[in-house]
Amino acid sequence: MLSEKMVEIGRKRSAIRELFEYGKARAAEIGAENVFDFSIGNPSVPAPKEVAETIAELLLSRDSLALHGYTSAQGDMGVRKSIADSLNRRYGADFDMDEIYMTCGAAAGLSICLNAVCVPGDEVLLLAPFFPEYKVFAEKAGAVVRAVPPLGDMSPDMEAMAELISEKTKAVIINSPNNPTGAIYSRGCLSAVAELLSARQREYGHAIYIISDEPYRELVYGERKPCFIPGLYGNTFICYSFSKSLSMPGERIGYIAVPRSMEDSRTAYAAVCGAGRALGYVCAPSLFQYVAAACCDLSPDLQAYIRNRELLCTGLRELGFEFVEPDGAFYLFLKSPEEDAEAFCMRARKHELLLVPSDSFGVGGYARVSYCVSAETITRSMSAFAALAGEYGLGG
Ligand code: PLP
Repeated sequence: MLSEKMVEIGRKRSAIRELFEYGKARAAEIGAENVFDFSIGNPSVPAPKEVAETIAELLLSRDSLALHGYTSAQGDMGVRKSIADSLNRRYGADFDMDEIYMTCGAAAGLSICLNAVCVPGDEVLLLAPFFPEYKVFAEKAGAVVRAVPPLGDMSPDMEAMAELISEKTKAVIINSPNNPTGAIYSRGCLSAVAELLSARQREYGHAIYIISDEPYRELVYGERKPCFIPGLYGNTFICYSFSKSLSMPGERIGYIAVPRSMEDSRTAYAAVCGAGRALGYVCAPSLFQYVAAACCDLSPDLQAYIRNRELLCTGLRELGFEFVEPDGAFYLFLKSPEEDAEAFCMRARKHELLLVPSDSFGVGGYARVSYCVSAETITRSMSAFAALAGEYGLGG
């Protein structure tokens, strides 16, 4: 007898992956240039050249047994020191290496944090719209998820959040810049969340953790910058990833930071180590730990994403579409001209436009457009978007 739950998760790919697979099959049929695949969040700018240089240098200069060997479970000491120093320089923080835990990307970081804090029956709040995998990770950790609905600007509805928090609430996952909206939560909004959680912690007599999922922290385009959440709320785990900022999602590298401001932070760090061990991660990929340490202060080349965002926003606005103005990440949240986002995305598919319906992100009525594609794809897709707009009588 197999685990029915795992069979179900394994059989049913996420809506994003489903569409991505469809896109590949369709490209083989009609040519990649004829498919406008806006399905997945694979970075479209190459990794900074320093990444390849560092890999080459490491391969040539280090002893290969040490380079490819196991590191400490929480990550190589020197690597963790470099990451802590970088966070301290950039955020005026006060991390030391024993508060950093290297992970296989943000996905592992999230799973580890959720398993570190949750016991069966606990509840985890997700701010809708949210990255669909949160539900999979939280449920595997034994928790039940509750979704806080958004207001029109995609910030959380604080009244609804106040109603959803209960004694069972153990954690809230926050993702800013956000996938799928590209929104960056304002300091005011996050301060309100921090205030609410602090009051409830006092009332219930136990910690409620923020798990801050930050793979897009470096991908910001306007004046608004993401807040350093531990500065607002002590019980915050940071889950960071180099997947997007250094364009290397396949290499699986990131980290968890457990700030000293967390209640009983040494025990919390031990729970992180325990969850990493129980989940069988052993240690994060060693070569890419060293790469991350050497490259952690680099910024991605944002110009391509800025250009794409401009091209897409201008084009879609001119066609009469409505959308959430993205501040960061590389996603645009497009309002579906009909209530049923799945029906809208199926219609889009007829024009070879691959858009992800918003339902699996926890809200209806939108479609996610991943604009980590070539500028040429966006430009060429506009005639397909125009035909789609025409079907709904937009823009006129
Ligand atoms: N969190 C969010 C919001 C994401 O969009 C992604 C990937 O797209 C992840 C986590 C997982 O990223 P990683 O590749 O670091 O595991």
